[in-house]
Amino acid sequence: MPFSYKPLAYLASITSVNSMKWSFKIATVAGTEVRIHITFFILLIFVAMQGMAGGHGLNGAFDAVLFVSAAFVCVLLHEFGHVFAASGYGIRTPDITLLPIGGVARLERMPNKPSQEFVVAVCGPFVNVAIATAIYLFVGIGLVANPDFHFEQSGRFWEKLMAWNLMMVAFNMIPAFPMDGGRVLRAFLAMLMDYGRATRWAATVGQGIALATALWMLLSGNVSPVLLLIAFFIFMAAGQEAASVTQREATSGLRVRDAMLTDFRALSPDATLRDAVDLLLAGSQHDFPMMDENGDLLGILTRQRLISGLSEHGASFPAKTIIEPCEQSVTAFTVLSEAMEQLSASTCPALPVMDTQSGRLVGLLTAENVGELMMIKAALKRA
Ligand SMILES: [Zn+2]
Repeated sequence: MPFSYKPLAYLASITSVNSMKWSFKIATVAGTEVRIHITFFILLIFVAMQGMAGGHGLNGAFDAVLFVSAAFVCVLLHEFGHVFAASGYGIRTPDITLLPIGGVARLERMPNKPSQEFVVAVCGPFVNVAIATAIYLFVGIGLVANPDFHFEQSGRFWEKLMAWNLMMVAFNMIPAFPMDGGRVLRAFLAMLMDYGRATRWAATVGQGIALATALWMLLSGNVSPVLLLIAFFIFMAAGQEAASVTQREATSGLRVRDAMLTDFRALSPDATLRDAVDLLLAGSQHDFPMMDENGDLLGILTRQRLISGLSEHGASFPAKTIIEPCEQSVTAFTVLSEAMEQLSASTCPALPVMDTQSGRLVGLLTAENVGELMMIKAALKRA
């Protein structure tokens, strides 16, 4: 299960900036691919232009690009702090992507023990503390020992880089999801209470901090658009984290077979949009699988595609040309929470459930089914 482990990864995920398509590999370190997103170069161009506009011409542009590159090397090393800590617990990290908003390390999974999550979370900021200390020792104190060297001569490069690392520590240790500090807080709480409650508490604290920051900015009239945006995304990401843990708790022990739709209607390969409309109006099913003569799944005609197809092509149009090909499928024995994650990552609102032996379609999994199952479980729990 891929897991975005970084502040503002949420921003990346909802704007789909983080799609692998738009990033390319620059290196592989200890089994982890390092990728750079294409928008990162837009940032470099922007920074270079700002450097030139500062009145120092090409030199100014070069200095600005050099600093941003060095700052992002520190971001990358921070991510590797998490990656190496996680690998100590046998958790792999397939890739790290550098985006203009920071780095995103996708851990295979999160550590199970709170103490391990704590270690993985603090190892990122720890790297920045180490870098800042090294700069202070080698350049700052070296400056005393070597009177010919001045911060100013290097465009205050090292001084700024040290400040950048300290800022990264402060920013990441804010106890709000999805920052490292939020995970540290959850790890602490999880030692006192169960994981779900700890997550909800940590999420509430994160949302409180985000709200308080936004409110303070609005009341003081000191509105920073960037900070306001960050507060907004922290608020959303914290809520999302709590919701996903609550869902994982509610579906624990359940499999796809417990929630899948088994009584469904399918379309034949020569069906028209009119046939699909008849099925849509006759029942409560929204998405219709299309099967060929051998019973193999060709794709799914979703309600959204049906409606837009009707307005574009009319009712006699063949449905086959607008079905959604389903690359992902599950089996009846797939763990429900894993299937739910596949479903939410997929563009298709219904996930085909295939028989392991025959490879035939045996059911459909939709968010609606799972929602109904949750309502029933909650009602039975109350009874
Ligand atoms: Zn981190």
